[in-house]
Amino acid sequence: MKLSELPTPVYVIDREKLTQNLEILAGIQNRTGCKILLAQKAFSCFYFYPLIKKYLAGASSSGLYEARLAHEEMGGENHVFCPAYLESEFTEIAEICDHIVFNSCAQVKKFAPHAENASLGLRINPMYSTQKTPIYDPCAVGSRLGVVKSELDESVLDYIEGFHMHTLCEQGSEPLRDTVEAAEKQFGEYFRRAEWLNLGGGHHITRKDYNVGLLESIIKRLQDKYGAEIYLEPGEAVALDAGYLYARVLEIVRNGVDIAILDCSAECHMPDVLEMPYRPPLYGSDKAGIYPHTYRLSSRTCLSGDVIGDYSFKEPLKCGDMLRFDDMAIYTMVKNNTFNGMPLPSIAEKNGDEYAVIRQFGYGDFKGRLS
Ligand SMILES: *Cc1c(COP(=O)(O)O)cnc(C)c1O
Repeated sequence: MKLSELPTPVYVIDREKLTQNLEILAGIQNRTGCKILLAQKAFSCFYFYPLIKKYLAGASSSGLYEARLAHEEMGGENHVFCPAYLESEFTEIAEICDHIVFNSCAQVKKFAPHAENASLGLRINPMYSTQKTPIYDPCAVGSRLGVVKSELDESVLDYIEGFHMHTLCEQGSEPLRDTVEAAEKQFGEYFRRAEWLNLGGGHHITRKDYNVGLLESIIKRLQDKYGAEIYLEPGEAVALDAGYLYARVLEIVRNGVDIAILDCSAECHMPDVLEMPYRPPLYGSDKAGIYPHTYRLSSRTCLSGDVIGDYSFKEPLKCGDMLRFDDMAIYTMVKNNTFNGMPLPSIAEKNGDEYAVIRQFGYGDFKGRLS
């Protein structure tokens, strides 16, 4: 169908843009011999897993459900990390995951004897902060994520074949270089016996200004020094700028400012806008006051703060206008909710100039999660 025929709200995934990102990641794998996994927590749009599988080595999961999704829809390597596994889920995890990463030495002792076929890893925490947003900083004071050096019980190392660290968020390869050095100072003696090192996610590899050369030199240095397989598990970088959220203007009201009420919601459909918070890019618009017509874009929920931001336009908005929020593939579908009984956005594919709805939701999806 044509763009104007799409039902809204709708997340549209751009096959061409996704493929461009995957080609960049595949290039890094080919030049260095490292392996790159999709971190499903950012993007679990399994319709595209067959495409992703052509380029990446597999997926990484945050627990049983994501691991099952990768097992059913992607194949390839299946890595899992969770701060604490449930006994009731571990048998299945051990059946479908080839790499299992533990968050503490106690977890290794509890579960390692039940995971004979998987390669086991330990998440370490170098406590080396390179960013300022505590909610996204695994190295923040008091963090539960990863074993700090002083808590490492060497008796568990007999079980451990690899080490995992994840400390970055939307960052370049310079902070990675510094973090790896900090980790080596503390844990380098263990890396020597490791079969693999997983450098986690948070690498903004597909952003235009990312220093890919530096990343590749870090990977090669680690390969040479420790003889280990190097893994990266980016989420964002896989689908960065590869999706949009389209919405339509439902009504315009006025209270000191002009307010457009849309059929999408920040709270329900792009929660990072309120959580982070940030102002999502909107195609064809600018900051408030730049173009002649400024509107506060908001939603039809009852939450006063469900405001996407203030944007200006060349022409006045009118009911039925379609708006395109950019970079909406990641951390959106996986986080959305039906607060206020809001419908979940449809999911569509953009392939060149053609659009196709690949999934629609209804009342059953709202009721089905309640009782
Ligand atoms: C969040 C996370 C990722 C992916 O992070 P991005 O910022 O989306 O690249 C990878 N690994 C772990 C352990 C994570 O928690």
